[in-house]
Amino acid sequence: MLLKDIRFLITQNPDRDVLENVDVHIDDGRITEIGDNLTKDGEVVDCSDRIVMPGLVNTHTHVPMNLMRGLSDNKVLEDWLEEDIFPAETCMDEHSTYYGTLHAVIEMLKTGTTCFNDMYAPEKPVADAVHEAGVRAVLARGMTDTDGDADDKLQESKQFIEQYEDHDRITPAVAPHAVYTCSSELLQRAKDQADTYNTLYHIHLSETMHENSKCEDKHGRTPTAYLDKLDVLDDRFIGAHGVWLTEHDVNLLKEVGAGIAHNPCSNLKLGSGVADIPRLHAHNVPVGLATDSVASNNNLNMFEEAKFAALLQKRRDPRIMTEQDALDMMTVHGAELLGLDNEIGSLEEGKQADITTISLHDETLHPFHGTRGLLSNLVFSFHGHVTDVYVQGTPLRRNGNLQTIDSDTVKRECRRHATRIHQHTQDLHEQQ
Ligand SMILES: [Zn+2]
Repeated sequence: MLLKDIRFLITQNPDRDVLENVDVHIDDGRITEIGDNLTKDGEVVDCSDRIVMPGLVNTHTHVPMNLMRGLSDNKVLEDWLEEDIFPAETCMDEHSTYYGTLHAVIEMLKTGTTCFNDMYAPEKPVADAVHEAGVRAVLARGMTDTDGDADDKLQESKQFIEQYEDHDRITPAVAPHAVYTCSSELLQRAKDQADTYNTLYHIHLSETMHENSKCEDKHGRTPTAYLDKLDVLDDRFIGAHGVWLTEHDVNLLKEVGAGIAHNPCSNLKLGSGVADIPRLHAHNVPVGLATDSVASNNNLNMFEEAKFAALLQKRRDPRIMTEQDALDMMTVHGAELLGLDNEIGSLEEGKQADITTISLHDETLHPFHGTRGLLSNLVFSFHGHVTDVYVQGTPLRRNGNLQTIDSDTVKRECRRHATRIHQHTQDLHEQQ
């Protein structure tokens, strides 16, 4: 396939080149050539009115929770989880998890995301949906042992990893939920599993001040220092949130090359706070952008997330978190965080053809003042609805139309499950 006459190609390569009027040739799922006047056999897609950029990378999600959009607002994390989300999750089954995932994938494809890093339980229906829809994902069976039982969960996690370790779009990972929902034994056994299979270790980290103070009361350390003591920090460690990291924590992450998934909207909506991203950048701690689930966001639009991420840091100093910084966080830095930067995150010869294309006719991209202005529009004014999305060169969305998912069926099934979840949480609240 040939993407022909691309008006602007945002490569996100090491020089951050934005090329004009170029062609991209794709063969067998990879970008084989970028250049002028390429002629190849196969399909030709006219991109003369398109921006072409890398597919976006969402580094922390719980995609089945698309069924819980707007279920509970106006609460702090602990109340939100205990009073509404955990009870709602008792209604989730394989069928609802599968359709919730497809609903999330539809939303992500609409807004240019081609890869996400997810933790949920069960995760098998998430993998089924990802496999069928054609997107890319890092997936892990989320684990807690507040009920005192970790063996079954570790076993399920192990089986999940073994089932998907050779999949070409699914990268399995290990995901203990958080220091406040996992025993030290589970946190360490999860690390052993991550070492055995050489996977990422994905965990919620210092999301709220409350999490930090509880951990300090119980273990005498911040969550990061506690995890360091348990010997689970390394360069395959991804902490989601990192809002309340201390200077010592940041240094611990830096020493081992661990990274942070930054969720600005969710952190604002649950009143958790604002992560200090410039400090992480100053210490060269990898940071990827993320939405968290729609239950606390309440959407999966990474363009919107990037704008929030930039504005939150600009509130103190408008010179930091430029449009280029925001674009890096949603593409190449996200790919680095997930250990996938040899394959995705930028558009370069040899990399996977995970691509988003955007119509230049969109009013929110007009007018633009040079290349920097174009990037500025993408981060600060674009509403986020993209035109085409490709993963491994396969079109998943074309001229705004889904190619692999029947959205009417997904919406119908999701409405049915959402009604059931709503009724269950209402009944619970009435009983209390
Ligand atoms: Zn989360």
